[in-house]
Amino acid sequence: MIRRAETIELIRRSVRAVVDKYGSRYWFEKDERREYPVEFVEDLATHGVFGVNIPEEYGGAGYGLFEAAAVLEEIAASPGGMAASNAVHAALFNNHILVKYGRPEVKERYLPDIARGRLKFQVYAVTEPQAGFNTVRISAFARKEGDYYVVTGTKTFISRVKYSNLGILAARTTPLEKAPRRSLGITLFLVDLDKAVGKYIKVEEVPNNLRRFVDTNTLYIEELPVPEDHVLGEVDRGFYILMEESNTERALMSAQCVASGRWVIRKAVEYAKQRVVFPPDPIAKYQGIQFPLADAWMRLEAGDLLKQRALEAIERGEDRKVIGYYANTAKYIACEACYQAARTAMWTMGGYGYSAEMDVERHWRAAELSAGVGQISPHMILNYVATQVLGMPRSYGE
Ligand SMILES: Cc1cc2nc3c(=O)[nH]c(=O)nc-3n(C[C@H](O)[C@H](O)[C@H](O)COP(=O)(O)OP(=O)(O)OC[C@H]3O[C@@H](n4cnc5c(N)ncnc54)[C@H](O)[C@@H]3O)c2cc1C
Repeated sequence: MIRRAETIELIRRSVRAVVDKYGSRYWFEKDERREYPVEFVEDLATHGVFGVNIPEEYGGAGYGLFEAAAVLEEIAASPGGMAASNAVHAALFNNHILVKYGRPEVKERYLPDIARGRLKFQVYAVTEPQAGFNTVRISAFARKEGDYYVVTGTKTFISRVKYSNLGILAARTTPLEKAPRRSLGITLFLVDLDKAVGKYIKVEEVPNNLRRFVDTNTLYIEELPVPEDHVLGEVDRGFYILMEESNTERALMSAQCVASGRWVIRKAVEYAKQRVVFPPDPIAKYQGIQFPLADAWMRLEAGDLLKQRALEAIERGEDRKVIGYYANTAKYIACEACYQAARTAMWTMGGYGYSAEMDVERHWRAAELSAGVGQISPHMILNYVATQVLGMPRSYGE
């Protein structure tokens, strides 16, 4: 355990060395220009960040989820904040899926280049205009033709398409009305975006201000051929993979939220200690300023402990209900705490908190996304805990 803690500290230092090169001005300009942080991401790639959770046999570092969380935390605890960690986080979730569910020959073909950062594996395309949080309603369809599946459908709110070579795509292989169970009939595919975009996939950006330098898009997919061996896991059972892997994603999102939240609170505390409005005292001396900061800090601590418990449950392969409980609870508490921390920091800093050059509002915008619809909404987590943990009847759907 001590050795693992030392390894994690080394990983943190190496990521921090990259992160520290990209200061406030860099992220301000990326925001202003709505420009993906290519230099930053390439720098991370040359430092092996994309291979952190890829096994050594495929050229990765072979670490687990705590190490992946440490990478994302170091990025989120910076002026770029969670928007910066969101520019790369899906690569680490996606690696987890490909390593676990990819066919051996496909893993051999792609993982070494992903680990080296030559191929960016950052697209995770599940959401559809009509499906939203009800994933079983997705209707993008993959029909079998010889050794290929041919996919047609529309995906929306799909991030990082403009700077990704590979992605994971969810489509139905059995229509909902013919599936023996609603949760059956969805399959996951590994998609080569370099071959697909422009030819079989038309990309249209969905403008939003939450993470201005991370693109989010609608994908119009038309007759996209995907080789049969690019199926991830079993045909028709992709929904279960999505559910299982979303726990990993939620735990890693909690990690980013805690890191961003702590960063903004530290920033606000430093500001408050030097800001004098009614001389001679700095605003940090007022309890009206201190208490919300202390309150937000403790809530982040709770989020951090839950995150650790969630990561531990996933790594140990504990019962799926235990994993689901901690991953959802961590995401709910940590992301809400982050949002509260960011808002508290802005209010502490007064007008300067709202100035884009102070970096805090960048954290606040990203925190809004993470606490709201990012990966899963608070409503859906409350539904999960009410029905799955407390055993109350479901209020919606079939
Ligand atoms: C910037 C951004 C980036 C994204 N990136 C990706 C990506 O890369 N890949 C991807 O697949 N998706 C992505 N998404 C999609 C996101 O993860 C959500 O899944 C999606 O936004 C939810 O669908 P919807 O907006 O249609 O909400 P809906 O499902 O229509 O829900 C609307 C509201 O109703 C609530 N609601 C719905 N059902 C219930 C219920 N039963 N009980 C109580 N409340 C309910 C929801 O919580 C929500 O508040 C992204 C979204 C955004 C905004």
